[in-house]
Amino acid sequence: MQTKLLIDGVLVAGEGPVERILDPATGRSIAEVAEASAQQVNAAVAAADKAAAAWAQTVPKDRATLLLKLADRIEADGAAFAKLESDNTGKPLAAALNDEIPAIADVFRFFAGAARVQHGALAGEYLPGYTSMIRRDPVGVIASIAPWNYPLMMAAWKLAPALAAGNTVVLKPSEQTPLTALKLAQLLAEIFPKGVINIICGRGESVGAPLVSHPRVRMVSLTGDVSTGQKILAAAAGNLKRTHLELGGKAPVIVFDDADLDAVVSGVRTFGFYNAGQDCTAACRLYAGAKIYDKLVANLSDAVRSLKVGTQSEAGVEMGPLISEQQRARVAGFVERAAATKHVEITAGGKVRAGSGFFFEPTVIAGTRQSDEIVQREVFGPVVSVTRFTDADDAVAWANDSEYGLASSVWTQDVGKAMSVAARLQYGCTWINTHFMLVSEMPHGGFKRSGYGKDLSAYALEDYTVPRHVMVKL
Ligand code: NAD
Repeated sequence: MQTKLLIDGVLVAGEGPVERILDPATGRSIAEVAEASAQQVNAAVAAADKAAAAWAQTVPKDRATLLLKLADRIEADGAAFAKLESDNTGKPLAAALNDEIPAIADVFRFFAGAARVQHGALAGEYLPGYTSMIRRDPVGVIASIAPWNYPLMMAAWKLAPALAAGNTVVLKPSEQTPLTALKLAQLLAEIFPKGVINIICGRGESVGAPLVSHPRVRMVSLTGDVSTGQKILAAAAGNLKRTHLELGGKAPVIVFDDADLDAVVSGVRTFGFYNAGQDCTAACRLYAGAKIYDKLVANLSDAVRSLKVGTQSEAGVEMGPLISEQQRARVAGFVERAAATKHVEITAGGKVRAGSGFFFEPTVIAGTRQSDEIVQREVFGPVVSVTRFTDADDAVAWANDSEYGLASSVWTQDVGKAMSVAARLQYGCTWINTHFMLVSEMPHGGFKRSGYGKDLSAYALEDYTVPRHVMVKL
């Protein structure tokens, strides 16, 4: 297994403390990865800095060629990438192979194309005797910090737009899930000029913090927790780095009485529990109209009980474990406190699964109220709450009564109602009669405490570039 860091085009062993990497389905160690030392963090930034000028001057066509080559290589080795990802995260192998690998390859292909078709304001004379034009130039060295829920996909979301735009990168995967990024490092070393991409591993405090506060880093991109985003903002203040923050979520799902019940049940069964609910867009906070509420709770609870929970390669497995014992204890804490609330009823699941691994039962919590902790806080686990509403304005107000603003969905057969509610929701994305569908062409990102900055789409390319004005006196 490839466990070396990538610094200045060379795979090198980490010189810092060793982290044991676990299989969450068994709790057993599957690898040991030594984190970067302070000198190695500096060396990675120095390599990215040294490579920046030449890489920025490459033409989009040449950068696109390398990104396309990378996509092909990932796809060709997709089975091995998927196996490693599912071993390290516990997610079903089929999901990693059939959902994630194609989406990851597509992200590199999309940005390869997008880099070649950027648009901007017209060059022209906006003052008599002067011609103005706009350039979009790279920001410089980017520190990219990734979470553990979709390790390779988050690496792709960060690397592809940054590289397509002509930046150089130091990527730090999560200390819990570095294995696919390290496997990717091997391909990157073969395909890209040295220093353009560097991958270093380690914990947030020991490796992430010195990386993001490094004076040669010009921009920090984080997908992670709100509190980590706050720390990064504080560190970025030092030399006023640009920041790009994708933080948590608590997606509201508004189900009107006229919604297609079967579609809602099947949608929430899938998108509330995909990746064991460890997803910032998970369909976790339902508001159901008074007339559909009882049937929805009953049918959804039956459907959720039918989810097949198991290890990565078990036949038909739909949901794996949580990432760690600590994450499972956190989820269990939320559910126990909700269960102790008088008006609340656990209608499916609710317990830690006995045996090895960090499994938690897929859970439905009905009868919740807006002020309940389980409605307000991000659980990041396989837990869905259902709150009843009678007035559509209440549903919209409650949906917006959240510190988060990443994703939301509305379920109704009335197009006008769907569109007017979508217009009032304060979320980076609103799906209508579906949830969780992402495409490379459309932006992903939030507002409020979910952060700012867009992943995917041409907007991400804008985030990773600086618009510049060049004026000529005629
Ligand atoms: P986390 O914030 O604990 O860790 C994310 C990354 O930040 C890790 O690589 C970690 O090592 C690093 N880090 C931690 N402290 C740091 C510091 N002081 N300086 C620099 N780096 C530091 O998050 P997590 O537990 O890995 O992921 C779960 C969180 O991510 C959830 O809150 C979830 O909602 C969020 N998330 C958001 C999105 C999105 O697109 N908005 C996507 C996935 C996950």
